[in-house]
Amino acid sequence: MINIIARLFLISPLWVMYFFHQTHDGPAHEEMDFSTLLMFSGGMFLLLLWRDYGRAPRSSISVIVRNMAMMFCVVCSIFLLFGMPWSMWYMSAHAFTWFFVLCQKIVSTVASNTIYPMMQSNYKDVLKTGWHPYWDTTVFNFDSDLIKNGGFEEPVYTNFVPPAEWEFQCPSCGARQQTNFGVCWNCNYGADGDDTAYLERWGGES
Ligand SMILES: [Zn+2]
Repeated sequence: MINIIARLFLISPLWVMYFFHQTHDGPAHEEMDFSTLLMFSGGMFLLLLWRDYGRAPRSSISVIVRNMAMMFCVVCSIFLLFGMPWSMWYMSAHAFTWFFVLCQKIVSTVASNTIYPMMQSNYKDVLKTGWHPYWDTTVFNFDSDLIKNGGFEEPVYTNFVPPAEWEFQCPSCGARQQTNFGVCWNCNYGADGDDTAYLERWGGES
């Protein structure tokens, strides 16, 4: 649900733009009819849906971009003081957001192919777990570090709740652990020396 609202929010500037051009006789007044608007909105929704796929339980990309757009809405509100109309303010806030996303995309794509693999020898394995060099490091992603880094949720604890400083996760059940070796207190993973779950999750040599 939160994803659907975030996507609609990201699509909304198209509607503002449409009604702006219709009511103010803007340059796109002739070109853009209502069916084109619907087509673009649908296309954008599907594109976002595709980008968000497989991110759970990490925050979806739509939600992260929505957080950015809301920040830019606040920043751009300074234009309102100078008499910019509401529709222009709304559209420019979103335009800044997408420009920012594009710049970040270029930087992280270049770095992913050059410096990141040099800095981190198991970089490819980390990517395989679904971690993303931009979406999971940006301040606009409000997930906990555990979700950002590991990408999987903790189980619902019944009796024992691990203390806050335990920051490792069992690769089998997701319970937080004091150390990254040994036997899981929750599901007993590791007791029989079988490390399949760990290798599936992180790859590498056993
Ligand atoms: Zn476990």
